[in-house]
Order: sequence, then C-alpha cells, then structure tokens
Amino acid sequence: MSELVFFCGTMDCGKSTLALQIEHNRSARGLQGMIFTRDDRAGEGKLSSRLGLVTDAVEVTDGMDLYAYLVEHLSQGGRADYVIADEAQFLAPEQIDQLARVVDDLGLDVYAFGITTDFRTKLFPGSQRLVELADRVEVLQVEALCWCGARATHNARTVGGQMVVEGAQVVVGDVNQADTVGYEVLCRRHHRRRMTAASAHAAALSPDVLPVSPA
Ligand SMILES: [Zn+2]
Repeated sequence: MSELVFFCGTMDCGKSTLALQIEHNRSARGLQGMIFTRDDRAGEGKLSSRLGLVTDAVEVTDGMDLYAYLVEHLSQGGRADYVIADEAQFLAPEQIDQLARVVDDLGLDVYAFGITTDFRTKLFPGSQRLVELADRVEVLQVEALCWCGARATHNARTVGGQMVVEGAQVVVGDVNQADTVGYEVLCRRHHRRRMTAASAHAAALSPDVLPVSPA
C-alpha cells in the first residue's frame, strides 16, 4: 500500500540529508524517483543537504500541478517509482492535495520533507496540509540543539542578530549585509524569551546582569 509520509522538524534537523539517503537507497535497488523541491539553498532544481550532498530535482513553481506533472512524465515514457518533495513547507496546500492524489491514483509512495512551523511558531500552509493529509507523520529527532544545549524545537528569525517575531513568512536573507536576515534554532524557552546565542553571549558579558544558574 503506497503512502504519503511527512518527515518534519526544525531547520537543521537533517531533513534533506534523510531525503538524499532515501533517494540513494532506492536508486541502489534500481528504483527511480521524481524529486521535487522549492527554494533549496543550493539554487533552482537542486536538492542539497548541509553536509554537502546534492542531487538534481524539479523546481516547483507557483500554480504547478504536481499530479499533472507526474501523469505527463509517465505518459511520455518517463519513469517514477516514488516521489520525494523537499522543502514541502513552501508548497501550496493544493499542491499537497495533488501529492496525496499521486499516492492514491498512481500508487506511488510520496515522501515529503519540511519544516513544521515558521519563525512565529505558526504552521506553514504546506506543512499544515501535510499534517492533515499524510498517512504518517514522522518527527525527525536528529538533535538540533539550542545554544543552551536543550533540544531545539523552534525556528527563530534574526535581523542584525536580534530575534524578530513579525514579518513575511518567507524571507531569504543577504548574508553580506549588516541588517542581514538569519535563522537560528532554539528551545521553546529561549524562543519565548527571544534569546539567541548572540544575545545570550552579550547578556553574559554585561556587568548589569547577575549570573544565573544554567538550570
Ligand atoms: Zn535554549
């Protein structure tokens, strides 16, 4: 029985690495995957991991029908034994419905990988639809750690090193600018306190702040 599986977690939890591992394991058995991604860090039409591995992928665009794309691919003699959708948080809810239809009507396994919540702790629309539709949701427990050492469960956005909780859901920063947008994974406690590694370091150096127990 084919299924729609949603592998989710924070940034840096190893989603893309697992996606590449699944792709590797199946291609070693002679299977061929259709790989979709959107806005990967390595650029258009790439699925990459922070560990430096990369493979070619089909870049998903606004309004693209993923079900129709696969039907067209198969009808032209193309092959697809399974489907991987990386950066699935960036897909539109209707594109997640199309992936569910790929499972049900084409009988293919679909493995979707995505960040669950944004920097405001709200579900991405694509991730929400996956939680609603998936046969199985696997929360990746690769230990992304907060600066305090606790398991990082939340994504923070920083602007100029300071955590922000307002702004557009998707912003890709320019790393060379002083007001650069950055991202950092935190535990919930420090997400709530808006305490990033940089601000914790600054606070620790400040004579105004009394030392506190790490507990
Ligand atoms: Zn923490």
